[in-house]
Amino acid sequence: MKIYNTLSKTKEEFVPVREGKVSMYVCGPTVYNLIHIGNARPMIIFDTVRRYMEYKGYDVNYVSNFTDVDDKIIAKAIAEGVSASEISEKYIAECKKDMEAMNVKPATVHPLATREIDGMIEMIQTLIDKGYAYVVEDGTVYYRTRKFKEYGKLSKKNIDELEAGKRIAIEEQKEDALDFVLWKPKKEGEPYWESPWCEGRPGWHIECSVMAKKYLGEEIDIHAGGEDLIFPHHENEIAQSEAANGKPFAKYWMHNGFLNIDNRKMSKSLGNFFTVRDISEKYDLQVLRFFMLSAHYRSPLNFSADLMEASKNGLERIVTAAQRLKELVDSAGNDPMDEKEQALLTESEGFVKKFEAAMEDDFNTADGVSAIFELVKFANSSAQAGQSGEFLRALYGMLAKLCDIMGILIEKKEQALDEEIERLIEERQEARKARDFAKADQIRNDLLARGIVLEDTREGVKWKRA
Ligand code: AMP
Ligand code: ZN
Repeated sequence: MKIYNTLSKTKEEFVPVREGKVSMYVCGPTVYNLIHIGNARPMIIFDTVRRYMEYKGYDVNYVSNFTDVDDKIIAKAIAEGVSASEISEKYIAECKKDMEAMNVKPATVHPLATREIDGMIEMIQTLIDKGYAYVVEDGTVYYRTRKFKEYGKLSKKNIDELEAGKRIAIEEQKEDALDFVLWKPKKEGEPYWESPWCEGRPGWHIECSVMAKKYLGEEIDIHAGGEDLIFPHHENEIAQSEAANGKPFAKYWMHNGFLNIDNRKMSKSLGNFFTVRDISEKYDLQVLRFFMLSAHYRSPLNFSADLMEASKNGLERIVTAAQRLKELVDSAGNDPMDEKEQALLTESEGFVKKFEAAMEDDFNTADGVSAIFELVKFANSSAQAGQSGEFLRALYGMLAKLCDIMGILIEKKEQALDEEIERLIEERQEARKARDFAKADQIRNDLLARGIVLEDTREGVKWKRA
């Protein structure tokens, strides 16, 4: 399996740090608002990477944080006259709802910055003790950037060129313009914590270094996020972690390209800004997920109404084919496949191989989706009623597996339908108990019109599709 590593700017063979295990850290959102569709891209992409790793048999430890203390959260709390934690708790809950609707699996751990302050203080102290950080008069702690000789290795920036573009602001007391904040003193009305240096709060970058170490260890396999995080966030994380731990931090750095709208950068001021919730009013969020997977994750992706419609149609083709196959499976017996079916199955396995080859080539989900479409086309023409249960089940299992890796739900609609049928049957039973036979018959006939046949048996009412 090959992964494009931002650190080496090449595709590298994936060899995990610990055999059979994958540790992944994905930078999560700052929670002061509903997440937007740009935030959804890394969530969906790296969830798919995780699912593929699990399919390959790896035991995946997936950590994704919520930044729950930050200037924007504090500003919103002040504006609304509530506490910062009320804002962050509210939007974490909303974010989790969106994730579920996009079928993004919960992380193994979703750490919160505000619960990890002790670990941050400990790492900052280590950096001070090793000479990589210093405290100034007002209690601010800065990272001594030039001391970390490899600074710039991820973003390929030259430290002298960076220096030339930076000035020290008058209120800052730092030694060098490139030094960044690890800890800063509180301001009036802000949340704060005790520390050896002053009452205050952490800088942004330190939380990810600390959480990755606590939940995944000092050396991790994959560190990921959007490409805007390469500099300075990830560059600074490397400087902190490698200086504090004395070890390489992440082996593979993965970054998704940006999501634009109608070929322009998404921004509130341009009026082309959508939250995931906005999109959910018009589409099932499965469509948004499918849309994200239709492009390579490193390419910029343009969001438009036309592309969403195309994704909706594409997704429907897959779900319809899967449902038809499922119906064939449900009405098939347990008979074994014959030679002809064996040959068909071997042919269909070719599409699975194609899918795997695409995913193994730096998670080319666009080609992976094409392989699924080919399998769908093949299943539509080669699966019919009357074929052996063994063949139909194998074909359905194959399609279901690939959809599951992509996080595409194919059974949802059917399950919802089943639940509705069960509910109507119960309603009919109630009506019969109440001797309302007209209503009971009405329900039976309505179901029959939808192709559902009811049978009264000794064990109760059973139903099947006609
Ligand atoms: P933030 O809350 O801004 O730190 O963003 C959370 C995650 O979403 C980070 O991995 C960002 O890189 C990513 N992200 C933000 N905006 C976009 C966008 N327009 N396209 C793709 N990823 C984005
Ligand atoms: Zn981070």
